[in-house]
Amino acid sequence: MPTPDPAPLVVYGPASRAYDFGPGHPFTPRRFGPGIDLLRELGAEFASFAAPAPVADEVLATVHTRRFLASVSRLSDYPELADDESVTDEDTPPFYGMRDAGATVVGGTLLAMDEILAGRRLHAFHPGGGLHHGFPSRATGFCVFNDVAVAIRRARDEGHRVLYVDVDVHHGDGVEQIFWNDPLVQTVSLHESGLSLFPGTGWVEDRGGLGAEGSAVNIPLEPGTSDASWLEVLGSVVPAVAAAFRPTLLVTLNGADGHALDPLAHLGLTTVAFARAARLLDGVAHRHAGGRWLATGGGGYDVYRAVPRNWALVWLAQAHRDVPVATPQAWRARWAAEAEGHRSGPPSALMLDPDGTARPEAASVAAANRATAAAALDHTLRVLAERHRR
Ligand SMILES: [Zn+2]
Repeated sequence: MPTPDPAPLVVYGPASRAYDFGPGHPFTPRRFGPGIDLLRELGAEFASFAAPAPVADEVLATVHTRRFLASVSRLSDYPELADDESVTDEDTPPFYGMRDAGATVVGGTLLAMDEILAGRRLHAFHPGGGLHHGFPSRATGFCVFNDVAVAIRRARDEGHRVLYVDVDVHHGDGVEQIFWNDPLVQTVSLHESGLSLFPGTGWVEDRGGLGAEGSAVNIPLEPGTSDASWLEVLGSVVPAVAAAFRPTLLVTLNGADGHALDPLAHLGLTTVAFARAARLLDGVAHRHAGGRWLATGGGGYDVYRAVPRNWALVWLAQAHRDVPVATPQAWRARWAAEAEGHRSGPPSALMLDPDGTARPEAASVAAANRATAAAALDHTLRVLAERHRR
């Protein structure tokens, strides 16, 4: 085995921007401007970047049906053919070149995974990856192909036990379903409750299929959840599941859409929670998974404030560097005008949001979240302990 490079790999290139549903769509490639620029300003070296390229249909077919792949290729050439019978939904409209753009996202996450599997890197980060709503034969929730599932399948086929932790504000439904019956892939999703948010699934009682009971953990959180109880839930569930499951590799989806400023969801998180989560996941990777950690960016729709700082906090945790107090002045200056042009507040001056950024959560919210986490954890730990005894 080669000695792993201590610098985390960052997957990003010009082709990353091709995944674009058009003007006005919230999942915009504009995110890469301030996001990647902030990583560079904080010290991510050019040599640590690798550019993604599209993968072949054979690779996509490890999680998607051939019929779906053919439909996506057709829509990619003729987006105007989309109709009610289509494999896409209203939020995930076909666009010209969609097949290669989606296959490039998969290529990026696989590139990161292959570096880790080959032992060349311990940590890798693909900000443009994390399309967790991709299903075997359906594109939904801004997600065409499920890059995380393709990468997890490759690791699993090479004999790894994969722990997947999804802290995006939306339920990681596609990944969960693809590995529903697979006891070698443990999924954990913290998300806003399906009662108030897309995709409307991910209940605490959903725990994995026959033969893989306990291999899915779902923590639906109350709207209004803020840092304190989100971190309490994360800290009580993830290290305990990792200790019980004994992964050899960690894959995470670090969405920024739980942030209080996010326009699409109703949690009240700040970058303090994102920073602590990234450190906790780094600790879990080193303590339980030989240090192997692939992170993806997932969702996040506050382009100039929440997303770039979240990506930076993931990268800083992977680089084992301290979080600076302020964001670089040059970075703020470069993106201020564009932010204003898109009716956003200015790029944030502080890396960590100060107290008072989010409304404090109600005691009832914290109590409900605590009970949900306890119920999910209790069951999983029991099942995993039993599985190890057999
Ligand atoms: Zn580390």
